Amino acid sequence: MSVNLTSDFESLSRWFHIQTGFVKSSLLTPPAQDRSSLQQVFQTLNARSCPKSYNFHLHTRRSDGQLEPYEVMEQAIEIGLKGLTITDHHSTQGYKEAQKWLDNWKHKYPKRVNQAPRLWTGVEINARLLAVDVHILGYAFDPDASSLQPYLQGCTTEGTDAYSAKNVIIAIQQGGGLAVLAHPARYRYPVPELITEAAHLGIDGIEVYYAYRHTNPWLPTAKITNQVKQLTDGYGLLNTCGTDTHGRNLLLRL
Ligand SMILES: [Zn+2]
Ligand SMILES: [Zn+2]
Repeated sequence: MSVNLTSDFESLSRWFHIQTGFVKSSLLTPPAQDRSSLQQVFQTLNARSCPKSYNFHLHTRRSDGQLEPYEVMEQAIEIGLKGLTITDHHSTQGYKEAQKWLDNWKHKYPKRVNQAPRLWTGVEINARLLAVDVHILGYAFDPDASSLQPYLQGCTTEGTDAYSAKNVIIAIQQGGGLAVLAHPARYRYPVPELITEAAHLGIDGIEVYYAYRHTNPWLPTAKITNQVKQLTDGYGLLNTCGTDTHGRNLLLRL
């Protein structure tokens, strides 16, 4: 195989900021920060992708969840997840511990490496959108990016300029990541208005598949999901799914 020097140079040059975004080279990016691979997965998601193939919304004890980060990874392997993100509130500590655990696990069980789920960085950030407080999920960003540090201190930025949805979206994208509006039908505000405004602010995706009712088994709420998906598709945004697990079972929301 020949090496294409021109495209390597192009890859390197993509480290520079392009407008508000930050396009990263897959050559130099850690897998957890590989935005384009995650984008590709998001494009394949449907109502059955979560919680047994993927899970892009869950919490550990590093915010308000009940699982240790390593327990999340043990369950992810047991379920046979292809990919996941830990989206603790205002913290990437749980992600970092899970990443270390996963690296060690792969080292310990080299023959099982292809059973290892893909792990991307994740976070859930409070923000103001129109007249409501919403949650914005960040994915595949650089956890050390300076733009994100105000949001990773374990508490909200309420009362500061950083709290606006616009600034949260920009911070995630400047950190190389994707910004997604979480559970859009949970805010007691018209969903079409929220999604329209989020789209205008440059959000990358909407958490379309979500169990608004705490069903067992976990199931996206069909009627709401269909409405949200129509709006999301209308703006050409990505669809994501996740259980929003806070308890001890990654297959349930509670
Ligand atoms: Zn939330
Ligand atoms: Zn959550």
